[in-house]
Amino acid sequence: MHEMSLCESVLEILEQSAREEAFSSVKKVWLEIGVLSCAAPEAMRFSFDIVMKGTLAEGAGLEIIQVPALARCDQCSQDVEVTSRGEPCPVCGSERLDIRGGDQIRVKELEVS
Ligand SMILES: [Zn+2]
Repeated sequence: MHEMSLCESVLEILEQSAREEAFSSVKKVWLEIGVLSCAAPEAMRFSFDIVMKGTLAEGAGLEIIQVPALARCDQCSQDVEVTSRGEPCPVCGSERLDIRGGDQIRVKELEVS
């Protein structure tokens, strides 16, 4: 499952932050998920609980923040937000969009102790 490996990357980020910032457990994680990342929030929650078992983030809460993708339209040069690939420009209807971001998974904030 795609989400499982994403959660494993999240765990690596948590472990690295724990070393750098000297905390020993994570209570809550705010995770930004780009709408184009193909990570389903429900599957992320499910995988998160499994992957965090027995780690510094066992039982931690997970808040998922879905962030839109930004694109620049080739035709009208507007910066627009898109929610899926292949979506036309909401301003002029052109399909020539240069998508930037939207496929990232980012730990935005942590509540630690
Ligand atoms: Zn356009």
